[in-house]
Amino acid sequence: MISKDARGIVLYNRDFRESDKLVKIFTETDGKRMFFVKHAGKSKLTAVIQPLTVADFLLKLNDNGLSYIDDFREVRTYQSINEDLFKLSYATYIMALADAAIPDNQVDAPLFAFLEKTLSLMDEGLDYEVLTLIFEIQILERFGVQLNFHECAFCHRVGLPFDFSFRYSGLLCPEHYDKDDKRSYLDPNVPFLLDRFQSVSFDDLRSISLKDDMKAKLRQFIDAVYEDYVGLHLKSKKFIDDLAKWGDIMK
Ligand SMILES: [Zn+2]
Repeated sequence: MISKDARGIVLYNRDFRESDKLVKIFTETDGKRMFFVKHAGKSKLTAVIQPLTVADFLLKLNDNGLSYIDDFREVRTYQSINEDLFKLSYATYIMALADAAIPDNQVDAPLFAFLEKTLSLMDEGLDYEVLTLIFEIQILERFGVQLNFHECAFCHRVGLPFDFSFRYSGLLCPEHYDKDDKRSYLDPNVPFLLDRFQSVSFDDLRSISLKDDMKAKLRQFIDAVYEDYVGLHLKSKKFIDDLAKWGDIMK
């Protein structure tokens, strides 16, 4: 067991035995770990083991079992996310995606930074649906899925009204549409935007604004990509899908 300072994002906690809790924290320097908190209700740690808490923790890390939280400072919570059921459900989903994308104990500082930045931007009020789409497309690689939304899979030309072929796992230009009669028949803006999303920098994110029907088309296609290539069925995603169905009434 080693003691260590580490910045971390609390992904979730769950009850364990009578009054204890298990807390999953994604740390910047040591990957995701499960921490044991004894008598969680009475512990000084109660406030910092809630999901969507970021802090500098003093940790006791154990590579082959549960780890422990000794202390913490510089606590940050995402207030505006926590106050909005829609934002909260999207934030919960991207945390679950980050959790599913890499094994525990595997260091992934870039993913940590990307998750923290995405949550900050959501909290700041940027479009949470667009941020989630970008997160989903950029994290695909962690699931071992590499899709090229830049050029035709056959002739490698760029900048054309592309469609996507699941059969060839790539784009088809108008000259090569006929290679796959079951192609996706996408609005060409979908692959165009996904190409941008794959390489978008955080500074550019502030200027991205999309209409609802475009977001719906992107959502539908990314859902199909996840169904086909990742096969993940997260409860938090199901919740978002259900929210969408009765969300208009609530709003
Ligand atoms: Zn082509």
